[in-house]
Amino acid sequence: MLLNAKEILLKEILYQYLNQLNMICHCEKCIEDVLAISLNQVKPQYITDIDKISYSKSEMVDKQKNTAMLVILIEAASTVTTFPRCEKRLPMNKENS
Ligand SMILES: [Zn+2]
Repeated sequence: MLLNAKEILLKEILYQYLNQLNMICHCEKCIEDVLAISLNQVKPQYITDIDKISYSKSEMVDKQKNTAMLVILIEAASTVTTFPRCEKRLPMNKENS
């Protein structure tokens, strides 16, 4: 089974800091959008076994890398909040689509 370790790690960090990302909407679609935008900006790191995630995690203990991931998430969250694609979007955005 092929897994992207970055996806798992980013998801974990996202839920850990969800309340600090200042998102107007926490629905599944918006969360997925944040993840998609973030994941497109990081190099994927594929693993063949979920057990191997611990290797990637020990790498993430490196605070600098962890912070870099968080910065990417914060930027993605602000993009999604500005242009939400779910029903929570503002009426003015609705007219434009
Ligand atoms: Zn939403």
